[in-house]
Amino acid sequence: MSLKDDLYKEVILDHYENPRNYGKLENPHICEKGANPLCGDELELCLKLDGDIISEISFEGKGCSISQASSSMMTELVKGKSKEHAFNLMKKFKSAIVEDIPQEFSEEEYELESLLGVKKYPVRVKCAVLAWNTLEQALKKEEK
Ligand code: ZN
Repeated sequence: MSLKDDLYKEVILDHYENPRNYGKLENPHICEKGANPLCGDELELCLKLDGDIISEISFEGKGCSISQASSSMMTELVKGKSKEHAFNLMKKFKSAIVEDIPQEFSEEEYELESLLGVKKYPVRVKCAVLAWNTLEQALKKEEK
């Protein structure tokens, strides 16, 4: 186990034990549920939009450390950002973890790299992308 792997484990554990933006949102504009039955992960995402900006976002859920840490990181990275930014970040993350195409992550986004270690395990990849897929569904629902 390298030093980097240890660091990544700590990042995931920290988000799992102290999830950011966890809880219910008052008067959300959109809520969307996601699940990963293979692992037993469940997630409900709620958000508020201010024009094109995701002004508030929160999640509740249960499941493995990867799914919960990924949800926590995702909410932190898209809160206060435009929908377009969120979509682009989702594409970048999924490209890196699903297609194994190397991506450049900014300093703000570096925690996402901690999840990339699971890309060899298809079941765990589903855990890591659950939050992003649920966000995508939520934003598409809003556009209808
Ligand atoms: Zn899982």
